[in-house]
Amino acid sequence: MQRGTNLGRLGGYNQAVILDAIRRAHGGIARVELVELTGLSPQTISNVVRRLVDEGLVREDRKAVSGPGKPRTLLALEVSSRFAIGIHLDPALMTLVLLNLDGKVAASARHEMPAVAEPGHTVRAMADRVQELIGAAGIARGKILGIGVAAPGPIDVPHGIVVGPPMLQGWERVSLRDPLQELTGLSVLLDKDVTAAAVAELWASERPGPENFAFIYLGTGLGAGVVLQGEVLRGASNNIGEIGHFPTAAEVPECACGRPNCVGMALAFRTLIRQGIDAGLFPPDQDLTDLALTTPAVMQLCAMARDGQPQAVEIFDRAARHLGTAVAHVANLLDVDRVIFGGPLWEGLADFALPALRREVQEQFVARAIHEVEVTGSALGHEVGAIGGACLVLDHVLSPKASGLLLERPT
Ligand SMILES: [Zn+2]
Repeated sequence: MQRGTNLGRLGGYNQAVILDAIRRAHGGIARVELVELTGLSPQTISNVVRRLVDEGLVREDRKAVSGPGKPRTLLALEVSSRFAIGIHLDPALMTLVLLNLDGKVAASARHEMPAVAEPGHTVRAMADRVQELIGAAGIARGKILGIGVAAPGPIDVPHGIVVGPPMLQGWERVSLRDPLQELTGLSVLLDKDVTAAAVAELWASERPGPENFAFIYLGTGLGAGVVLQGEVLRGASNNIGEIGHFPTAAEVPECACGRPNCVGMALAFRTLIRQGIDAGLFPPDQDLTDLALTTPAVMQLCAMARDGQPQAVEIFDRAARHLGTAVAHVANLLDVDRVIFGGPLWEGLADFALPALRREVQEQFVARAIHEVEVTGSALGHEVGAIGGACLVLDHVLSPKASGLLLERPT
């Protein structure tokens, strides 16, 4: 628990500290407990809580009797008083979610990415899909706090721009934030998909103590989001986590960076399909480049491995060894106690790849005599990126942290 301050000019911060404490106390919390938890004065707690109740963010709940003395009023989050929208732009799919104040999905939608070569069209489609989502959920527009967009990197956060992500042809420098803001009339934050996913995991976590984990995103690309001591790390330019170019032992097809042994290429859809062709699992003319065709082909290969098809199993065992070594480097560099896998490719791999990955990472984790590194799959499923987008907004508006402040559009 971060402790607040009674300085008047930091009233906004105190409000965030108190709201955060109420949000985390799922069974409700009394004012006196807030005083103990936050270190704020009873007067400050009383003033801020009155404001939160007036604004409809918090409600006063049943009278709780605990031991002798008069019953105490419990405060609880009004979870449906505000919502945040998250959009995950994947080269193949656009996923949208509407989260309530408690970080739970109230509505969601999934669309194929429209006309990727025409970014302007994509931004208009995003605005239309947002409108549909709000309409379908039947929520007053005034209750929407904002939109968080999780996009593949690299991104230019100060300008709200996506800068030439490898799989989005035609997206050299695409302005997302400002046009989407203008089209929807809602505030828009932009962050890398892997960082958004890490924010989602942080919000979903019920663990005590500060979190230390790496989120490994497996989709059409490979990346890592990082949380250390409970804080989401972003790096100098918000482009943290480009682990796809870590070298592997094996030669794989040449990467866009020009090198012959990048781990990202060991897991690239076209590499996996090529290996499937070589093993006779796909016809020789199986498409290697069109995402609309390669995505289902890789999922088919995953299904074969799940069913125990020996060559398919071998393909993913090899991929898991390369990935496990790269992820072990990440775990060793950061000294995390948890590694979480997620993303669209992970959805296909989760059932059978986890034990091999866990073994690789744990065996290569140098500090294993001091503490364990837990290796798991995300519980948030294929929507983790979009949930992360919405969590960026919740984090920005609600959390007593500085993270996200730099994402705000200059006004
Ligand atoms: Zn590379």
